[in-house]
Amino acid sequence: MARKPLIAGNWKMNLNHLEAIALVQKIAFSLPEKYYEKVDVTVLPPFTDIRSVQTLVDGDKLLLTYGAQDVSPHDSGAYTGDISAPMLAKLGCTYVVVGHSERREYHGETDELVNKKVRAALKHGLSPIVCVGEQLEVREAGGHIEHTTSQLIAALKGLKTEQVNNVVVAYEPVWAIGTGRVATPSDAEEVCAALRTALADKYGADLAQRVRVLYGGSVKSSNVADLVKCDNVDGALVGGASLDGEEFTKLCALA
Ligand code: PEP
Repeated sequence: MARKPLIAGNWKMNLNHLEAIALVQKIAFSLPEKYYEKVDVTVLPPFTDIRSVQTLVDGDKLLLTYGAQDVSPHDSGAYTGDISAPMLAKLGCTYVVVGHSERREYHGETDELVNKKVRAALKHGLSPIVCVGEQLEVREAGGHIEHTTSQLIAALKGLKTEQVNNVVVAYEPVWAIGTGRVATPSDAEEVCAALRTALADKYGADLAQRVRVLYGGSVKSSNVADLVKCDNVDGALVGGASLDGEEFTKLCALA
């Protein structure tokens, strides 16, 4: 089954709302409408930029989508500083990143919390981009498949098969994020294929064939083509390279 690739730009804590508008305009100007027939493109700005991106996307009827980098497990209430799934849905977000390794590391996010966030996102019609990935020492000890598949199964705990349909998985080895050290296509394919097998074992082969599994970690225009050629790599989650309009659109064109 052909899965439509997705290129997702994770801006992390970069760009104010004016810079966000400029970058989205640049992407929109550089990618022809026809491009989106083959590939989905989304940007994941900081919360403070989302309303500006929404206004631009809606006003100019742009074909790229947008989302957020995190979400609260709660719908509303006394959770100072948090942003809920209903708020993101109201802003027209399509995706939300859940369980990024930077959240797991700097905010102590556990598999259990990631699971609650995934459920909150799905409940409000957002597609969670569920990030999994091993640290270098885990890979060196040969535990990367076990580590990533168990992170994925924990993130999806309690979901029905039809809910998992709306999930995007991102394999992001921690040692490759922001380091310039990209996984080889065969390393990426090995883990992405294992994640798909884990989905098939739990939810059936049909579902596993529908879910997109992305690779993330130092993806650039110079390496994206070889990564997305892999059978089980359905696109990329791109950090640093998504902040430069020219580089990002070049990367998209090569995906
Ligand atoms: C990321 O933050 O999800 C990421 C993949 O970052 P980078 O592309 O900069 O490695």
